Amino acid sequence: MATPFIAGNWKMNTTVDEAVALVRDMRGPLEALNGITCVVCPPFVSLAAVAGELSRSAIGVAAQNMHPEAKGAFTGEVSPAMLEGLCHYVILGHSERRQLFGEDDAFINRKVQAALGNGLVPILCVGETLEEREAGKAQNVVTRQVREGLAGVDATLGGLVLAYEPVWAIGTGKAADGATAQEIMGLMRSLLRDIAGDATGEATPLLYGGSVTPDNVAEFAGQLDIDGALVGGASLRADLFVEIARAIRDARPG
Ligand code: PEP
Repeated sequence: MATPFIAGNWKMNTTVDEAVALVRDMRGPLEALNGITCVVCPPFVSLAAVAGELSRSAIGVAAQNMHPEAKGAFTGEVSPAMLEGLCHYVILGHSERRQLFGEDDAFINRKVQAALGNGLVPILCVGETLEEREAGKAQNVVTRQVREGLAGVDATLGGLVLAYEPVWAIGTGKAADGATAQEIMGLMRSLLRDIAGDATGEATPLLYGGSVTPDNVAEFAGQLDIDGALVGGASLRADLFVEIARAIRDARPG
């Protein structure tokens, strides 16, 4: 089974000073939890400061995005090599990138390949919109996003995290229910076994994301194929993030 896992996506929140204060608040309590991998995902401009705070910590750091090219005329973008030494993980294919910035599966696939090629662990996000769910297309959409996102990728090599984030549940306060999430995430586990083999399929953390709180997280972490959570809003409060991490750790068999 995959190790329980939590990642906090701070999105476009926190100044550098606020990011440092937030990580200082959560560092001690997170480190006191055994048996769960904890990752924080600050904005680019705070990566160095947060990585510095966590230099002797087991808490991981992730970038929220990355461009696939090594360098060049891509104003405002950040390359994989620029992230070296700052973080070990990178969120790719978040629905806000797909919806607000027009990223498609082929582009996200290039990012996944570039991340793995540069020693970064992708946290690849997939998930259907409300319209797609209501049209009965959720399974097809997630299957396409997983298969195309991982096309040509040797997922057995560098490590991978997959997150199921139904778009209708992100930032809305309307989380999926455990059974709905498990249905899709069981499918994701079998896709991953098919793509990368049984061992990688089993060892890859699968995260649920979308309005996770301390009150609802056990419903997700109690499901067979949900190893943890990708948390947005609640990750901006150290006490809530720690509470969610503890609840995941306690709910996972092991
Ligand atoms: C996210 O942005 O990845 C997310 C899950 O946000 P929230 O927890 O706020 O719904």
